[in-house]
Amino acid sequence: MPTEIHQESDRAGAASDARRDDFDAWSAVATVELDRFCKHCGYNLRTQVVRRQPVTDILMARCPECAAFHAASESATASRPWLHRLTVLAAIVWMVFLVGVPVALTGLTIALNGVILDEFTTYRQVTTAGANPNTRVTRYVTVVRTDVQHHDAFIALLATCAAALACFGVMLAVVALPHWPRVAYIAAAVGMPILAASAFLIDVSFNQPQHFAWVSRYTLLLAAAQIVAATPFTLVGRPLARGMVCILLPTRLRNCLAYLWLVDGRTPPAAGGRLHN
Ligand SMILES: [Zn+2]
Repeated sequence: MPTEIHQESDRAGAASDARRDDFDAWSAVATVELDRFCKHCGYNLRTQVVRRQPVTDILMARCPECAAFHAASESATASRPWLHRLTVLAAIVWMVFLVGVPVALTGLTIALNGVILDEFTTYRQVTTAGANPNTRVTRYVTVVRTDVQHHDAFIALLATCAAALACFGVMLAVVALPHWPRVAYIAAAVGMPILAASAFLIDVSFNQPQHFAWVSRYTLLLAAAQIVAATPFTLVGRPLARGMVCILLPTRLRNCLAYLWLVDGRTPPAAGGRLHN
């Protein structure tokens, strides 16, 4: 990018006088009409002359304070259209992700309920007399097992898994959807478990109604574990995320996540010593 090259050579200092003469020789086409700040020293470039670089045709302004060069227009570089396309693509991928995660979490919760139904039932062969006295009809039915080992530990493990899924979902919501009001996070924390439990129980009531009564107790237990575990994250989720950012990311990478502070009206942590020097 020509701006970078010019900036670098300006910082080198020795060649800067020649560059300045070059800049003054380029044809003036306009002046900077908006507040734009020198990326090098912060000087406001408004009213500075905009000139056309003769080789690249890029419109440039020069900081009178530190002589750093700037492209006068944000769209002046060839990479810009591709950057725009990548931005659109990234936004679409992001939206698919945001829709896909709650669907996956609901599906996994339904699967955990299915694990209980599978684990606590077994197939039994039942032979009954057919319509004709000489025939026998054999079929398989699912019956409740009476020999389940470690019942309580098994249920506790599944409830913990279900709760962890719900906590993850709420954490993702408070971090990735900062524009939501808090009531929306609570609705999600309560709504997803209810949706998953309802979907599972509707399936059971149609396909295995003989097990509905006992299996629904476990389904409600998992849903309650999810709601009780995940709802507090609507309050502590973002402070927790900020703590993780501070622990896991070096200061120069925190800038892109500063919104985690700003959205709650807080001041993001200082970006290291460089700004204060
Ligand atoms: Zn400057």
